[in-house]
Amino acid sequence: MEYVILNGEFIERSEAKVDIEDRGYQFGDGVYEVIRIYNGKMFTADEHLERLLDSGKKIDLNIPYTVGELKQLLEKMILKNKMELGIVYMQFTRGASPRNHAYPGADVLPAFTAYTRKAERPVDSMKNGVKALLIEDIRWLRCDIKSLNLLGNIMAKQKAAQSGCYEAIQHRGDTVTEGSSSNIAIVKEGKVYTHPATNLILNGITRRKINEICHENGIAVEESAFTLEGLKHADEVFMSSTSAEITPITEIEGKPVGSGTPGPVTKSLQDLFEKEIEKQCGNMPVKLR
Ligand SMILES: *Cc1c(COP(=O)(O)O)cnc(C)c1O
Repeated sequence: MEYVILNGEFIERSEAKVDIEDRGYQFGDGVYEVIRIYNGKMFTADEHLERLLDSGKKIDLNIPYTVGELKQLLEKMILKNKMELGIVYMQFTRGASPRNHAYPGADVLPAFTAYTRKAERPVDSMKNGVKALLIEDIRWLRCDIKSLNLLGNIMAKQKAAQSGCYEAIQHRGDTVTEGSSSNIAIVKEGKVYTHPATNLILNGITRRKINEICHENGIAVEESAFTLEGLKHADEVFMSSTSAEITPITEIEGKPVGSGTPGPVTKSLQDLFEKEIEKQCGNMPVKLR
């Protein structure tokens, strides 16, 4: 049995059905989260669930659960599915109602679905680094919302995939914003730079954790936007996300970043990040080094 959550109930995956006029399906009208599971435990669950409620608020979608209630439900599903190493995905849409752009009445309840999935740590990419390309950021101006509308993101990722790249680094004109599904940071002379948490990027939980780690360990970090030129001359570049953790980017548009191998700051951040995971979730079954 593989259990999923449909509107707060646990049911067998194949039994889960949503309405053909669900607004998530018709308009991408909803918000979502992905949380990592290590050793059967969620990592930074509170932060993710708070962001989920926050994303909901930003689109006037009232999620009728508290962080604590959601956490309990997800923990139960993880246990039921005996999920040790993977992710839990959840989304809330504005519910099902006859197609009309304007929001439906308050009687229409949001639709809540969630599932677990096995996912290894991408140890190979984390150790060796990955390739990226550059792409103009064509998305809307509320990238701070983890919205189900991901057309700009998926089109960017597809371009990367077609070119044998792992990620697409987006830029608005000269300014680097973020990856298609990750945040981007550069290291220059030992200092980490990453785009500030404005409406132009999704404020990643991994990104925030990295900033905390920097502050706690005397690694200089600055939340300020950098340019394409800054990216080109960076000593190190890395991407961060729930699934990819901290992955070095060692080649951009066919040119090596710095020495072309993962740099010392990126590596020590990876090690410190792994320690953070172990603090919350216990000993890592698959270690990076
Ligand atoms: C989810 C996401 C990220 C990474 O956020 P995490 O909380 O670290 O997983 C970065 N950018 C975009 C566009 C995202 O959707």
